[in-house]
Amino acid sequence: MPLFLPHFNIQKFNTLAVPAVANYFVAVQSDEELQEALAFAKTEKLPLLILGGGSNIVLRADFPGLVIHIKTRGLDVVAENDEFVWLKVAAGENWHQLVEYSLDNGYYGLENLSLIPGSVGAAPIQNIGAYGVELKDVFAELSALNIQSGLMVTFTKESCQFGYRDSIFKQSLKDQYVITTVTLKLSKMPRLNLQYPALRAALADIPGAEVSPEQVSAAVVTIRQSKLPDPQQIPNVGSFFKNPIISVAQFEALKLQYPQLVSYPVDELHVKLAAGWLIDHAGWRGKEINGVRVHPDQALVLTNPGKLEGKLILQLADRVVASVREQFGVVLEMEPRVYPE
Ligand SMILES: Cc1cc2nc3c(=O)[nH]c(=O)nc-3n(C[C@H](O)[C@H](O)[C@H](O)COP(=O)(O)OP(=O)(O)OC[C@H]3O[C@@H](n4cnc5c(N)ncnc54)[C@H](O)[C@@H]3O)c2cc1C
Repeated sequence: MPLFLPHFNIQKFNTLAVPAVANYFVAVQSDEELQEALAFAKTEKLPLLILGGGSNIVLRADFPGLVIHIKTRGLDVVAENDEFVWLKVAAGENWHQLVEYSLDNGYYGLENLSLIPGSVGAAPIQNIGAYGVELKDVFAELSALNIQSGLMVTFTKESCQFGYRDSIFKQSLKDQYVITTVTLKLSKMPRLNLQYPALRAALADIPGAEVSPEQVSAAVVTIRQSKLPDPQQIPNVGSFFKNPIISVAQFEALKLQYPQLVSYPVDELHVKLAAGWLIDHAGWRGKEINGVRVHPDQALVLTNPGKLEGKLILQLADRVVASVREQFGVVLEMEPRVYPE
């Protein structure tokens, strides 16, 4: 039976370092312990928070329920052919350690996703992405436990309905499953994705044909460390807002007014805007309100240097959203999830 800790402060378990107390906290190291934790929550009628690295949540207040910290371990090659390996990874493994493990073993495809904080089990929730690659590009399938029925279910790539920072687990199946393993299809041959301009620029000194996956990973790590604050030093959750997707008509009207507007094509009808550019040009970069800050080097990141309450972070976020809406007519959506809802 895992240890249920009552009245537990989860400040060290969220990268915004928000002080918040959970009614109960339990760390689970196996599927059996997970089942026992879920049974406890059912008996005690406790709401659940499934927690990985806590790098994509904002605690608005104390959590009146059970926090289940997923700490399962394991990496196994479950199939392979001449070209690919299928690597099955436990949800509790650390994402960046998985990237390093894959490179050490000559399994390629994760290099652009280097240094994203958090656990493997959380990666499918928002289809993590960076530098032109998303989880879905290397995803094969996942196993997840249905919280109500206790049954283990396999989800294929199609059934996960991955989108930009989105999946079925944030939509129709929200809060219904705990992901227990993720299987990735990785290439035995390097297949580099250097479409992202900052990445190409960082590797410009190396002739294209000689660039290795290890060098791509190292370049991603360097770029990220230069742009993003380390949560250990300055608490944050990375991008606080998603890049908004708007219609081409709205984009063209905005572009007339703001010729420098930063955007990325989506499809014939839609354009994605850089949320950081909008926040910066609404005058928020570096601003601090009640001790919570818009990061001076990257306006998309809100930081909590004083390790203050989550409601102060949400108040700043509300003000940023209101001012971007007023100036550009664009509504920003938060990327991290707020608890309790
Ligand atoms: C400095 C920094 C940089 C970042 N950069 C990026 C980036 O480049 N790209 C990107 O996509 N994200 C980025 N993020 C966000 C974050 O790293 C990812 O969203 C990551 O996948 C979150 O993992 P986690 O284990 O910390 O999730 P948590 O914060 O613990 O949980 C996030 C959500 O997933 C749910 N969840 C977690 N584990 C499971 C599970 N096993 N089963 C079911 N639900 C689960 C939780 O209940 C919660 O709703 C960044 C964050 C930081 C702090």
